[in-house]
Amino acid sequence: MTQGDSCTAPASSRGLAWRGSVLAGTVLVALAAGGLWIAPRAEVERGTTVPRAAPSVQVLQAPAAGPPAAAAVPVAPASAAPVAKAVPEGPEACALFLARLPSVSRAQCEEAQLRPSGAVSAHGVPLFWRDVPAPVAQGTTEAPLRVLIAGAIHGDELTAAALALRWIALAEQAGRPVHWRFIPVLNPDGLLARPATRTNGRGVDLNRNFPTPGWEKDAPLYWDKRTRRDPRRFPGHAALSEPESQFLHAQMAAFRPHLIVSIHAPYGVLDFDGPLSPPERLGRLWLDQVGIFPGSLGNYGGVHRGMPVVTIELPHALNMPPDAEVRSMWRDLLRWMGEHWPEALAPEPKP
Ligand SMILES: [Zn+2]
Repeated sequence: MTQGDSCTAPASSRGLAWRGSVLAGTVLVALAAGGLWIAPRAEVERGTTVPRAAPSVQVLQAPAAGPPAAAAVPVAPASAAPVAKAVPEGPEACALFLARLPSVSRAQCEEAQLRPSGAVSAHGVPLFWRDVPAPVAQGTTEAPLRVLIAGAIHGDELTAAALALRWIALAEQAGRPVHWRFIPVLNPDGLLARPATRTNGRGVDLNRNFPTPGWEKDAPLYWDKRTRRDPRRFPGHAALSEPESQFLHAQMAAFRPHLIVSIHAPYGVLDFDGPLSPPERLGRLWLDQVGIFPGSLGNYGGVHRGMPVVTIELPHALNMPPDAEVRSMWRDLLRWMGEHWPEALAPEPKP
C-alpha cells in the first residue's frame, strides 16, 4: 500500500464497520440525519432513484477531429483560480501529461490520439478523451456495446491514467463491435499538481461528488464522522459541484454506456457495483468488493443508475504493472464482457 495514495477509504478505517457491513454482501449502510440505517443492497438496487439533472458542462467547442483551433484557451469557471497558460490541443495532451504517466512512452502517448472533449477542469485544463468506435460490420444494424473507461479520477493515482491510455491501443487492435470511450485523465488538476493530489483543483474528491440519493445529508456526514474531515476526501459543497464530475455525469447521459470501467490505485483489488455478476478477476486483481460511499461513482452509477461499474484498484499508484499484466487484465475484461454481452463480442463476420 502506498502512503498517501489511498483511494476509497483511509487505510485505518477500511476494516471498520462501514466496510465490514457492506462486505457481508447484502447490506448497504447509509448515514441518515437521525443516525444509522441499514437497507438490503438488493433493495437499493431496485430503487427508482431519479438522478439529479446534470448542470450543463462547460463547452468551449465541439469535439475536435481536425487540427487545433485558434480558440483553444479555456476559460476557467468564475469561482476557480484561473490558470494563465494556454493548453494545447491534440497530441499536445502528451506534452501536458507524459511526464506524469509511468511506463508510457512518447510514441504510445501520441498514438493514443487524445483530443480535447470541450470540457475543462476546475483550473481550465481540457478534459481529453479518445473514442475508439466499433469497426463497421456489413449487414449489422445493431448498436454496438458502449464502454466508458475513466482513469485518474484521483489525480495522485498516476498508474490509473497510464493504464487507461495503454488500453486505447488494445481497444484499437481488438476488432470487436464495441464503441470505447476513454477518458484517461479525468482529474488533470490533481495529476498535474506538484505533488499530485487526490482531489481536483478546488480540493474536491471527485469520487464523492456524484449525486447519490441523500447526498446532501450523507456525504457531508460521512466526511465529518467517518473521515474526520480528511481534506483528501472532501465531497464538495454540493453534488456535481465540479466540472469534472459534471462531465462524467453528462457522458453517462449522452454516451449511455453499457459498462463503466473506473481505474484507481493502490489497493490491488477489483470492485464491482451494478446489476451483473461481477468479474472474478482481472489479471492478478481479484474481486474484493470494498463497499460503497456517498457520492462515489460506483455507488451512483452501479447501484442507483443500474450501469455496471467495474472499479480497478491497481496495486501501486506510481509503478505500473508489467506489460503482460496490462494485457492480461484487458483480456480478462473482454472475456467477462463476452459472458454478459456475447452478441456484442461476436467475431467479425467474414466478407
Ligand atoms: Zn482512487
